Amino acid sequence: MEDQTINSELGRADAKDFGEADALALRKQFAYFRQQDERAAAGKDFSIYLDSAATSQRPDPVLDAEREFITLQNAAVHRGTSNAVGEATNRFENARQLVAQFLGAPEPEYTVVWAAGATDALNTIATGISEATAALSVPALGVPGSERLAIHPGDEIVTTEAEHHANLIPWQRLAARCGAKLLVVPVDETGTWSVAAIREVLNSRTRIVAFTDVSNVTGWRSPAAAVVQSVKQLAPNAVTVLDTCQSVPHVPVNIAATGVDFAVFSGHKMFAPNGIGALVGRTELLAALPPARTGGSAITRVSTDSAEFMPPPLRFEPGTQPVSQVVGLGAAIDFISGLDITRLAAYEHSLVEYLVSEINRLNGVTLLGPADPADRVALAAVNVAGVHAHDVGQVLDSAGVITRVGHHCAQPLHRALGITASVRASVHATNTVAEIDAFIAGLKDAKKYFQV
Ligand code: PMP
Repeated sequence: MEDQTINSELGRADAKDFGEADALALRKQFAYFRQQDERAAAGKDFSIYLDSAATSQRPDPVLDAEREFITLQNAAVHRGTSNAVGEATNRFENARQLVAQFLGAPEPEYTVVWAAGATDALNTIATGISEATAALSVPALGVPGSERLAIHPGDEIVTTEAEHHANLIPWQRLAARCGAKLLVVPVDETGTWSVAAIREVLNSRTRIVAFTDVSNVTGWRSPAAAVVQSVKQLAPNAVTVLDTCQSVPHVPVNIAATGVDFAVFSGHKMFAPNGIGALVGRTELLAALPPARTGGSAITRVSTDSAEFMPPPLRFEPGTQPVSQVVGLGAAIDFISGLDITRLAAYEHSLVEYLVSEINRLNGVTLLGPADPADRVALAAVNVAGVHAHDVGQVLDSAGVITRVGHHCAQPLHRALGITASVRASVHATNTVAEIDAFIAGLKDAKKYFQV
């Protein structure tokens, strides 16, 4: 009850800007942060969580929704005829509608397909296109219309040097399997690329253009709509794939306005459970995409030697579904919508501006990504000259500051920037200025300890 009061207070329609007092109130809805704040108040050691880009903590309403479903309503969806199955299926499908609304991807033009996360969703697209290609010689592997997605030798797949491995390796393998050329648009010294650089490689042989909305290393928000416009103009045979893993939790995303064909995200970075995310795609393209994985539930007719598949989304959702995770994701979207993502985005941006300005005051600490925080979303990664990121991370960890150190699944980007690893601090609306100060103090301590 108390939590609901806090939530409705935070989410008032006439609410003013979200500020630090709101962040402190929001923390009360997370057992994780309550515990840390109680420890801090009692003078005990406590953690400062600056790793939401890796995974976010889950608020009570999300955990409550999952628990309520599991304990009181658990049933397999889309199977059988019982009322219990009907109710579970309604909740499962309602969550799909919530995702569609939240991301501006209305039916019937778009369809939301459940996936285990962004990695799974990207593999669903790449493997499906691979199957469409294989179906040119083995028709049984295709679905009606899948030839439009098939890749031919000499076709081109475009991605960028800034990608998370999840949005690179599936395309490498697809290109290798189909005899296509993978063109990787290079980043400049800020770790970003330009629309002009993308336009240079687009042509009628381009079949896929896959890129990230917000980089998990530089935090840079790419000009997605301008890329899609360019693809339509210069590469009419290409589909666009947008990795919205780091944007959906933090800033408004509108898939229809961006014009992208496919978008992917993971729930666990947006207050929702692990093991659930989505592939949101143009329905007509999903209809032509063969399934990457097959089995029960996804079919219309099966004989001992062949199968026919359901239309999307069920074609891509074989097996027993992660229903409580879907319910949790729906609750997370309600939670974020109740707070208003535009307000959260503005608050997080003010934290990131402060983070960047404090990093820029440190000698020997290089900020990865553009110096101007205007297009930066929710995170900043740094290189401390002369100290390995893991050593910096250890100093931070001993001060209770939880960050991510390493290559963040973006080795090509780090290599292009001339480093092997970096230290990343990432925020959510649950963070405060004092927590950023603790990160900066940790960087200073690391410099002092290693005498650089
Ligand atoms: N893309 C980006 C930009 C990411 O940050 C991540 C997660 N670090 C992924 C893809 C993969 O997400 P998941 O591990 O949840 O599948």
